[in-house]
Amino acid sequence: MNSKQKHIPVRLAGLGDGVHELLFTVSPAEIDLPAEFQQELAVRIDLDKTHSQAALHVFVQTAAVYPCDRCLEPVTIPVDTDFRLVYAHDNSAEHGEDESEIRQIDNNDPVIDVSEDVRDAALLCIPMRRICGEDENGEPTCKDAIPPEHNAETQRTNDPRWDKLKSLNLDQ
Ligand SMILES: [Zn+2]
Repeated sequence: MNSKQKHIPVRLAGLGDGVHELLFTVSPAEIDLPAEFQQELAVRIDLDKTHSQAALHVFVQTAAVYPCDRCLEPVTIPVDTDFRLVYAHDNSAEHGEDESEIRQIDNNDPVIDVSEDVRDAALLCIPMRRICGEDENGEPTCKDAIPPEHNAETQRTNDPRWDKLKSLNLDQ
């Protein structure tokens, strides 16, 4: 057993040269995603392996649920993203591909783990502004919107539960 557990292990040693499709299902907690991620992640890796390197195209699908910034109703945010990685056995790999970062394969442990990359990609899908949605005019579609001019926040200033929610939002 490895002391450091790999949650999305890609065992290069067992793969022949050519194109492979690898499928993984991983729970958000396993790869340290925040509690707002409540669905399992579906991870598909298209892997193109040659004698010197492995080119990965990683597809990530899941969803997260955050409170709406305006009305605090839960908002489901779909996560559907992809990214590319290249792993090489030595420095001979050409740095030709745009936006590809060439990483080293450890010959003593040729099992690469894309957990951190998947986590980072999933978190990048969460926008700073999270609201129920917008109609064609750009107006929020909250069921119970809180118009600023109706100073709902002012009315609730003395409600400690509201303060707690506000501070939670600021911390994120
Ligand atoms: Zn809302």
